[in-house]
Amino acid sequence: MKPGTKVQPLRPRRSLPSHPDTATHRCLATMPEGVEVAEQELGVVEAQLMYRLHCECGRAWFDLDLPRFVTCPSCGKLSLVCK
Ligand SMILES: [Zn+2]
Repeated sequence: MKPGTKVQPLRPRRSLPSHPDTATHRCLATMPEGVEVAEQELGVVEAQLMYRLHCECGRAWFDLDLPRFVTCPSCGKLSLVCK
């Protein structure tokens, strides 16, 4: 165990409500048995928005920014970008 790690006592298992006719009890009673539960480290995924720019000449390319004007890398024409 790493130094500084705190040990907390396990919480007692949640018992079923004392009133067996409640909706919670009925829901728990119909849960399927044998469900396997696994614990794993949660990662982080970074999402990026990417724009596909398509020139009238047929050339298409991708850019992370949405500029107002672009110069086509194929025909060299300066064009207004519209969505
Ligand atoms: Zn072009």
